[in-house]
Amino acid sequence: MPELPEVETTVRAYRPRLEGRRIARFVSRCSKQAEPNVAAVRRGIVGKRVVRLRRRAKYIVADLDAGCGHLLIHLRMSGHFEWAAEHDRRPRHIRAIFDLDDGNRLWFCDARKFGKIVYARDFAEATRHLGVEPLERGFTTARLRRILGEHARQIKPLLLDQSIIAGLGNIYADEALFRARLHPATRCDRLSNGQVKSLHDAIRGVLRTAIRYDGTTIDSVYPRGRMQRHLKVYGRAGLPCGRCGTPIAAMRLAQRGTHFCPKCQALSGNRRTSLSP
Ligand SMILES: [Zn+2]
Repeated sequence: MPELPEVETTVRAYRPRLEGRRIARFVSRCSKQAEPNVAAVRRGIVGKRVVRLRRRAKYIVADLDAGCGHLLIHLRMSGHFEWAAEHDRRPRHIRAIFDLDDGNRLWFCDARKFGKIVYARDFAEATRHLGVEPLERGFTTARLRRILGEHARQIKPLLLDQSIIAGLGNIYADEALFRARLHPATRCDRLSNGQVKSLHDAIRGVLRTAIRYDGTTIDSVYPRGRMQRHLKVYGRAGLPCGRCGTPIAAMRLAQRGTHFCPKCQALSGNRRTSLSP
């Protein structure tokens, strides 16, 4: 499932060919993917120009002409775009078609149909449920410390919670915790100031590195990435830790496969006594 770096990379790849283009026609072949419904999406976007293409959390966002609202697309498990002109044959699983005023046709393909195509007049309202952007200026160490202090829960499920910090998924949550030397089950409200600072650096560092490598490719849905060669724990169960040589462990945490080094990320240091300076 694409996370922040893969969505960011997708936005950057599609921006030059979408910004400034008017959407001439929209066809949905999977009505449950359109929100609030197909007619509302069509009415909202057809005839409108894409002024800006950007990312918010794991959404691709097309800002339309001033006052005309926004098109938000969430790729979820298997959603991806294809330019019709780049294919001799139609790809499988086309769920929606966007025709542009320059004659180009963009297909939205999605084998598993979990993706969403949303028209929203009010962007703030539509994204009210999303937490802070980890790469934006407002995500400071102090902000992270405040967030963590408010939650008496395990750190990894919190990192995956899009309503708290937006954009991290299973891969980058595992990688960030490894960088910060934190056990995935560490209680959020028991981190020392030093651990919070490490986690803040780790989250930003791993996301920036992943964007630099065009994200992670683990299946054919997202083929462009090179970050999979630089992952330290995700998908590496049983292989030696790059820091200490201990085999990377795998466990289930909040229903998600979780990878960590049992030595570098021991649960120690997660006590109240480590909090006060
Ligand atoms: Zn280790």
